[in-house]
Amino acid sequence: MRYFVFIFISLFLFSCEETPKILQCMECNGIGAVEVECFRCDGYGVLRCGLCGGNGRVTCGECNGNGGFKCTLCWGTGRFGECMYCLGTGYNSPTSSSPSNCIFCNGTGRGKCYHCNCRGYKLCQVCKGDRVVVCNQCDGYGKLRCEECEGEGKVKKECPECNGSGRKIFK
Ligand SMILES: [Zn+2]
Ligand SMILES: [Zn+2]
Ligand SMILES: [Zn+2]
Ligand SMILES: [Zn+2]
Ligand SMILES: [Zn+2]
Ligand SMILES: [Zn+2]
Repeated sequence: MRYFVFIFISLFLFSCEETPKILQCMECNGIGAVEVECFRCDGYGVLRCGLCGGNGRVTCGECNGNGGFKCTLCWGTGRFGECMYCLGTGYNSPTSSSPSNCIFCNGTGRGKCYHCNCRGYKLCQVCKGDRVVVCNQCDGYGKLRCEECEGEGKVKKECPECNGSGRKIFK
């Protein structure tokens, strides 16, 4: 019985000599995966926002980038109705022999447009006249976190040395 066991063990040892050696893969330290630069963001971890082209601002959609709207009451002239000082004549003293232009309406005879405060346009309430608004896709950063690497800039990939097994076989 003891002899039989001895043979068995020696057979086992002998067969071990024949078995190829399995070693931990040096490339990935046995993990089976290696970190490589993210191919989508070139390792930056962020991507340029496509909506604003990296500016963080986009043209205001409300006013189409005009910053405001032409006043519909005075059609952009800034003047509306009759000048209350010259009663629409344009002259400060109609009865005078040498009338001069009314200083309140510059001789136009037209009153001030109360709707637009004489500006001729109404400021866009969305962009407050800036013509641009903060990009809502990137919140004004101009950059977006890379989803591929979750902002890490690196992605794990199956180790090419050991095909992801973490071990290398030496024959
Ligand atoms: Zn490996
Ligand atoms: Zn006037
Ligand atoms: Zn107006
Ligand atoms: Zn606007
Ligand atoms: Zn953006
Ligand atoms: Zn990435």
